[in-house]
Amino acid sequence: MEERIMKADLHLHSTASDGLLPPAGVAAAAAQAGYTLIALTDHDSTDGVKEARAAGEKLGMRVLTGVELSCGAQKEIHILGYGFDPDHGPLREFCRERREQRISRTRRMTELLAQMGMPVSFDRVQEIARGVVGRPHVARALLEAGHVKSVSEAFDRYISPGKPAYVPKEDVRVADAVRLIHEAGGVAVLAHPMELKMGEASLASLIGEWKEQGLDGIEVWHPSAQNNHAAFLHALALCEGMLVTGGSDFHGADLHGGRIGDGLERWRDVQDDVQRLLAWINQRKE
Ligand code: AMP
Ligand code: FE
Ligand code: FE
Ligand code: ZN
Repeated sequence: MEERIMKADLHLHSTASDGLLPPAGVAAAAAQAGYTLIALTDHDSTDGVKEARAAGEKLGMRVLTGVELSCGAQKEIHILGYGFDPDHGPLREFCRERREQRISRTRRMTELLAQMGMPVSFDRVQEIARGVVGRPHVARALLEAGHVKSVSEAFDRYISPGKPAYVPKEDVRVADAVRLIHEAGGVAVLAHPMELKMGEASLASLIGEWKEQGLDGIEVWHPSAQNNHAAFLHALALCEGMLVTGGSDFHGADLHGGRIGDGLERWRDVQDDVQRLLAWINQRKE
Protein backbone atom coordinates (compact mmCIF):
# COMPACT_ATOMS: atom_id res chain seq x y z
CA MET A 1 0.00 0.00 0.00
CA GLU A 2 1.32 3.38 -0.93
CA GLU A 3 1.33 5.86 1.85
CA ARG A 4 -1.04 8.71 1.18
CA ILE A 5 0.68 12.06 1.55
CA MET A 6 -1.56 15.05 1.64
CA LYS A 7 0.69 17.96 2.50
CA ALA A 8 4.48 18.24 2.58
CA ASP A 9 6.95 20.96 3.51
CA LEU A 10 10.54 19.83 3.04
CA HIS A 11 12.47 22.90 4.11
CA LEU A 12 12.13 24.06 7.73
CA HIS A 13 14.57 25.61 10.21
CA SER A 14 14.72 25.35 14.00
CA THR A 15 16.85 26.70 16.84
CA ALA A 16 19.44 24.07 15.84
CA SER A 17 20.39 26.73 13.25
CA ASP A 18 18.70 30.07 12.63
CA GLY A 19 15.04 29.25 13.19
CA LEU A 20 13.11 30.70 16.10
CA LEU A 21 11.24 27.57 17.26
CA PRO A 22 12.81 24.48 18.82
CA PRO A 23 12.65 21.32 16.67
CA ALA A 24 9.63 19.94 18.53
CA GLY A 25 7.93 23.32 18.14
CA VAL A 26 8.45 23.27 14.38
CA ALA A 27 6.92 19.79 14.24
CA ALA A 28 3.96 20.91 16.35
CA ALA A 29 3.38 23.98 14.17
CA ALA A 30 3.49 21.85 11.01
CA ALA A 31 1.04 19.31 12.44
CA GLN A 32 -1.23 22.16 13.49
CA ALA A 33 -1.15 23.49 9.93
CA GLY A 34 -2.18 20.07 8.60
CA TYR A 35 1.14 18.79 7.23
CA THR A 36 1.68 15.04 6.99
CA LEU A 37 5.30 14.99 5.81
CA ILE A 38 8.04 17.39 6.86
CA ALA A 39 11.81 17.62 6.86
CA LEU A 40 13.81 19.73 9.29
CA THR A 41 16.68 21.19 7.25
CA ASP A 42 18.89 23.21 9.53
CA HIS A 43 22.00 24.94 8.17
CA ASP A 44 25.01 22.63 8.59
CA SER A 45 23.36 20.73 11.44
CA THR A 46 21.37 17.57 12.03
CA ASP A 47 21.16 18.16 15.77
CA GLY A 48 17.42 18.89 15.75
CA VAL A 49 16.36 15.98 13.57
CA LYS A 50 15.73 13.38 16.26
CA GLU A 51 13.70 15.75 18.44
CA ALA A 52 11.61 16.83 15.43
CA ARG A 53 11.05 13.22 14.42
CA ALA A 54 9.98 12.08 17.88
CA ALA A 55 7.59 15.02 18.25
CA GLY A 56 6.29 14.77 14.67
CA GLU A 57 5.61 11.05 14.77
CA LYS A 58 3.61 11.41 17.97
CA LEU A 59 1.45 13.88 16.06
CA GLY A 60 0.99 11.43 13.19
CA MET A 61 3.42 13.05 10.73
CA ARG A 62 6.24 11.47 8.83
CA VAL A 63 9.53 13.33 9.45
CA LEU A 64 12.34 12.87 6.93
CA THR A 65 15.94 13.33 8.00
CA GLY A 66 17.15 16.60 6.52
CA VAL A 67 19.98 19.12 6.41
CA GLU A 68 20.90 22.22 4.37
CA LEU A 69 24.63 22.36 3.62
CA SER A 70 26.12 25.74 2.74
CA CYS A 71 28.37 25.62 -0.31
CA GLY A 72 30.22 28.36 -2.15
CA ALA A 73 31.85 31.26 -0.33
CA GLN A 74 29.90 34.37 -1.31
CA LYS A 75 26.79 33.00 -2.99
CA GLU A 76 24.03 31.20 -1.12
CA ILE A 77 24.54 27.84 -2.81
CA HIS A 78 22.63 25.57 -0.46
CA ILE A 79 22.32 21.81 -0.90
CA LEU A 80 19.48 20.02 0.87
CA GLY A 81 20.04 16.43 1.98
CA TYR A 82 17.13 14.07 2.62
CA GLY A 83 16.70 10.58 4.03
CA PHE A 84 20.33 9.99 5.08
CA ASP A 85 21.54 8.33 8.29
CA PRO A 86 21.72 11.11 10.90
CA ASP A 87 24.45 9.19 12.74
CA HIS A 88 26.75 8.95 9.71
CA GLY A 89 30.22 9.81 11.06
CA PRO A 90 31.69 11.83 8.15
CA LEU A 91 28.54 13.95 7.77
CA ARG A 92 28.50 14.74 11.49
CA GLU A 93 32.20 15.57 11.34
CA PHE A 94 31.63 17.85 8.33
CA CYS A 95 28.90 19.74 10.22
CA ARG A 96 31.15 20.00 13.27
CA GLU A 97 33.94 21.56 11.18
CA ARG A 98 31.55 23.95 9.51
CA ARG A 99 30.24 25.00 12.90
CA GLU A 100 33.79 25.81 14.06
CA GLN A 101 34.44 27.81 10.89
CA ARG A 102 31.20 29.69 11.46
CA ILE A 103 32.34 30.60 14.97
CA SER A 104 35.56 32.24 13.74
CA ARG A 105 33.74 33.92 10.87
CA THR A 106 31.11 35.35 13.22
CA ARG A 107 33.77 36.54 15.64
CA ARG A 108 35.44 38.36 12.74
CA MET A 109 32.12 40.00 11.78
CA THR A 110 31.65 41.29 15.34
CA GLU A 111 35.21 42.71 15.22
CA LEU A 112 34.43 44.56 11.99
CA LEU A 113 31.20 45.91 13.47
CA ALA A 114 33.03 47.12 16.57
CA GLN A 115 35.54 48.96 14.36
CA MET A 116 32.58 50.61 12.67
CA GLY A 117 31.29 51.83 16.03
CA MET A 118 28.60 49.18 16.42
CA PRO A 119 29.78 46.88 19.13
CA VAL A 120 27.89 43.63 19.65
CA SER A 121 29.54 41.02 21.80
CA PHE A 122 30.38 37.71 20.22
CA ASP A 123 29.18 35.95 23.37
CA ARG A 124 25.78 37.57 23.02
CA VAL A 125 25.58 36.47 19.36
CA GLN A 126 26.34 32.90 20.41
CA GLU A 127 23.75 33.08 23.17
CA ILE A 128 21.15 34.18 20.64
CA ALA A 129 22.20 31.39 18.31
CA ARG A 130 22.03 28.44 20.71
CA GLY A 131 22.77 26.11 17.77
CA VAL A 132 24.80 26.71 14.61
CA VAL A 133 25.75 30.39 14.52
CA GLY A 134 25.30 32.59 11.45
CA ARG A 135 24.52 36.02 10.09
CA PRO A 136 20.86 35.98 11.25
CA HIS A 137 22.10 35.87 14.85
CA VAL A 138 24.48 38.77 14.22
CA ALA A 139 21.52 40.65 12.75
CA ARG A 140 19.37 39.95 15.81
CA ALA A 141 22.20 41.12 18.11
CA LEU A 142 22.51 44.35 16.08
CA LEU A 143 18.78 44.86 16.41
CA GLU A 144 18.83 44.16 20.14
CA ALA A 145 21.69 46.66 20.63
CA GLY A 146 19.70 49.29 18.76
CA HIS A 147 22.20 49.65 15.89
CA VAL A 148 19.51 48.79 13.32
CA LYS A 149 15.72 48.90 13.21
CA SER A 150 15.22 45.47 11.64
CA VAL A 151 16.96 42.25 10.75
CA SER A 152 16.72 43.10 7.06
CA GLU A 153 18.34 46.49 7.65
CA ALA A 154 21.26 44.67 9.29
CA PHE A 155 21.63 42.45 6.22
CA ASP A 156 21.15 45.24 3.69
CA ARG A 157 23.59 47.69 5.27
CA TYR A 158 26.24 45.58 6.94
CA ILE A 159 26.34 41.82 6.52
CA SER A 160 25.38 40.98 2.94
CA PRO A 161 28.12 40.26 0.37
CA GLY A 162 29.83 43.51 -0.56
CA LYS A 163 28.80 45.23 2.70
CA PRO A 164 31.44 46.33 5.20
CA ALA A 165 30.98 43.74 7.96
CA TYR A 166 30.42 40.77 5.65
CA VAL A 167 32.84 37.88 5.95
CA PRO A 168 32.57 35.05 3.41
CA LYS A 169 32.42 31.43 4.48
CA GLU A 170 35.12 28.96 3.52
CA ASP A 171 34.25 27.47 0.17
CA VAL A 172 32.74 23.97 -0.06
CA ARG A 173 32.19 22.50 -3.51
CA VAL A 174 28.73 21.28 -4.47
CA ALA A 175 30.24 18.00 -5.68
CA ASP A 176 31.70 17.38 -2.21
CA ALA A 177 28.45 18.18 -0.38
CA VAL A 178 26.52 15.91 -2.74
CA ARG A 179 29.01 13.07 -2.30
CA LEU A 180 28.81 13.35 1.48
CA ILE A 181 25.01 13.19 1.44
CA HIS A 182 25.12 10.17 -0.89
CA GLU A 183 27.65 8.40 1.32
CA ALA A 184 25.31 8.95 4.25
CA GLY A 185 22.51 7.24 2.26
CA GLY A 186 20.53 10.32 1.22
CA VAL A 187 19.58 12.30 -1.85
CA ALA A 188 20.82 15.82 -2.64
CA VAL A 189 18.62 18.67 -3.85
CA LEU A 190 19.55 22.23 -4.86
CA ALA A 191 17.76 24.64 -2.46
CA HIS A 192 16.05 27.82 -3.70
CA PRO A 193 17.84 28.16 -7.08
CA MET A 194 16.41 31.64 -7.65
CA GLU A 195 18.42 32.93 -4.69
CA LEU A 196 21.51 32.41 -6.82
CA LYS A 197 20.30 35.49 -8.72
CA MET A 198 21.35 34.17 -12.10
CA GLY A 199 19.74 34.32 -15.52
CA GLU A 200 17.85 31.23 -16.66
CA ALA A 201 20.42 30.15 -19.26
CA SER A 202 23.40 30.21 -16.90
CA LEU A 203 21.35 28.64 -14.12
CA ALA A 204 20.31 25.80 -16.42
CA SER A 205 23.88 25.09 -17.46
CA LEU A 206 25.16 25.23 -13.87
CA ILE A 207 22.44 22.84 -12.68
CA GLY A 208 23.33 20.56 -15.60
CA GLU A 209 26.96 20.52 -14.40
CA TRP A 210 25.93 19.79 -10.82
CA LYS A 211 23.69 17.00 -12.05
CA GLU A 212 26.74 15.42 -13.69
CA GLN A 213 28.36 15.63 -10.26
CA GLY A 214 25.47 13.70 -8.71
CA LEU A 215 22.87 16.31 -7.76
CA ASP A 216 19.49 14.52 -7.62
CA GLY A 217 16.87 17.23 -7.53
CA ILE A 218 15.72 20.84 -7.64
CA GLU A 219 13.67 22.67 -5.03
CA VAL A 220 11.17 24.03 -7.53
CA TRP A 221 8.56 25.18 -5.02
CA HIS A 222 9.99 27.85 -2.73
CA PRO A 223 8.82 31.39 -1.91
CA SER A 224 11.77 32.84 -3.87
CA ALA A 225 10.47 31.31 -7.13
CA GLN A 226 7.75 33.38 -8.73
CA ASN A 227 5.32 31.45 -10.94
CA ASN A 228 7.36 31.95 -14.13
CA HIS A 229 10.58 30.90 -12.34
CA ALA A 230 8.90 27.81 -10.89
CA ALA A 231 7.64 26.86 -14.35
CA PHE A 232 11.18 27.20 -15.71
CA LEU A 233 12.69 25.16 -12.86
CA HIS A 234 9.99 22.51 -13.20
CA ALA A 235 10.64 22.13 -16.93
CA LEU A 236 14.37 21.96 -16.27
CA ALA A 237 13.93 19.21 -13.64
CA LEU A 238 11.74 17.20 -16.02
CA CYS A 239 14.18 17.66 -18.87
CA GLU A 240 17.14 16.59 -16.72
CA GLY A 241 15.19 13.72 -15.12
CA MET A 242 15.73 15.21 -11.66
CA LEU A 243 13.56 15.15 -8.55
CA VAL A 244 11.17 18.02 -7.85
CA THR A 245 10.77 19.15 -4.23
CA GLY A 246 9.17 22.01 -2.33
CA GLY A 247 9.78 23.81 0.93
CA SER A 248 8.80 27.07 2.58
CA ASP A 249 12.19 27.75 4.25
CA PHE A 250 10.28 28.55 7.44
CA HIS A 251 12.51 30.22 10.04
CA GLY A 252 9.83 31.19 12.56
CA ALA A 253 7.39 33.99 12.68
CA ASP A 254 9.43 37.19 12.52
CA LEU A 255 12.20 36.31 10.05
CA HIS A 256 11.73 36.14 6.32
CA GLY A 257 10.01 32.86 5.46
CA GLY A 258 7.43 33.43 8.13
CA ARG A 259 4.86 30.76 7.46
CA ILE A 260 4.97 26.99 7.13
CA GLY A 261 3.87 26.06 3.62
CA ASP A 262 4.60 29.54 2.21
CA GLY A 263 4.72 29.29 -1.58
CA LEU A 264 3.67 25.63 -1.57
CA GLU A 265 -0.01 26.12 -2.40
CA ARG A 266 1.22 25.88 -6.01
CA TRP A 267 2.81 22.43 -5.57
CA ARG A 268 0.10 20.40 -7.33
CA ASP A 269 2.07 17.19 -7.97
CA VAL A 270 3.20 16.93 -4.37
CA GLN A 271 1.96 13.35 -4.04
CA ASP A 272 3.85 12.05 -7.09
CA ASP A 273 6.96 14.12 -6.47
CA VAL A 274 7.18 12.91 -2.88
CA GLN A 275 6.66 9.25 -3.83
CA ARG A 276 9.52 9.58 -6.30
CA LEU A 277 11.74 11.24 -3.69
CA LEU A 278 11.02 8.42 -1.21
CA ALA A 279 11.69 5.81 -3.89
CA TRP A 280 15.08 7.37 -4.71
CA ILE A 281 15.98 7.43 -1.03
CA ASN A 282 15.09 3.73 -0.74
CA GLN A 283 17.15 2.91 -3.82
CA ARG A 284 20.17 4.68 -2.37
CA LYS A 285 19.98 2.45 0.68
CA GLU A 286 20.16 -0.74 -1.41
P1 AMP B 1 24.89 32.46 6.90
O1 AMP B 1 24.73 30.99 6.62
O2 AMP B 1 25.47 32.71 8.25
O3 AMP B 1 25.65 33.15 5.81
O4 AMP B 1 23.42 33.08 6.93
C1 AMP B 1 22.56 32.85 5.85
C2 AMP B 1 21.11 32.91 6.31
O5 AMP B 1 20.77 34.25 6.59
C3 AMP B 1 20.12 32.47 5.26
O6 AMP B 1 19.91 31.09 5.32
C4 AMP B 1 18.86 33.20 5.68
O7 AMP B 1 18.21 32.49 6.70
C5 AMP B 1 19.40 34.48 6.28
N1 AMP B 1 19.35 35.63 5.37
C6 AMP B 1 20.07 35.82 4.23
N2 AMP B 1 19.78 37.03 3.68
C7 AMP B 1 18.84 37.61 4.48
C8 AMP B 1 18.13 38.86 4.47
N3 AMP B 1 18.34 39.76 3.50
N4 AMP B 1 17.24 39.10 5.45
C9 AMP B 1 17.04 38.19 6.44
N5 AMP B 1 17.68 37.01 6.52
C10 AMP B 1 18.57 36.70 5.56
FE1 FE C 1 18.57 30.46 7.29
FE1 FE D 1 19.02 28.29 2.27
ZN1 ZN E 1 16.90 27.24 4.38
